[in-house]
Amino acid sequence: MGTSPSQVQHAEEKAVLVPTRYPGNDRYRSAAVCRRGHAASAALESVPLAGDFCSQCGSPVLRACTKCEARIRGSRYGIAGGYRPPDFCDRCGEAHPWASRQAMLYRLRDQLDSEALEDAERRKLEQLLEKLESPNVSAEDERRFVERLRSVAPRLMDEAKPVLRAVITQAVLKGLGL
Ligand SMILES: [Zn+2]
Ligand SMILES: [Zn+2]
Repeated sequence: MGTSPSQVQHAEEKAVLVPTRYPGNDRYRSAAVCRRGHAASAALESVPLAGDFCSQCGSPVLRACTKCEARIRGSRYGIAGGYRPPDFCDRCGEAHPWASRQAMLYRLRDQLDSEALEDAERRKLEQLLEKLESPNVSAEDERRFVERLRSVAPRLMDEAKPVLRAVITQAVLKGLGL
């Protein structure tokens, strides 16, 4: 049996789905990861995908950031094994679909740590962030955290938007005009 024209066409469509290269000097290969976070390939350059769905859970497999379409960071050149998909896109900062709420809250905490703030403001924001980490956080707690962040750290507020969109209730963000 030879290759039918429709199979050839299918192969060409797949080739288009190879992610855009990370701009500049990329030290990482491109990965393919399912929406729930199972790695299908840590190095698409040498381990092409067998299919479009995860062999472990059946979810669609992604090959690029859903926001900026950069490659998903795969294994580092020169390093074999031990690959774990990153929770965030290293190009645009968007959380990948498999990032857990806890991973996003850690990110927010790291961002807060690296921001220059007065001690009193930092403590206040940390207290509010602790409430976000609690399983029974209220909409009021969420609103107070975002409002505070916006007034004392507007630059960070911008940087943290992808995370806020994922961890703060939609209605609260809308109420704050975000
Ligand atoms: Zn999966
Ligand atoms: Zn991205």
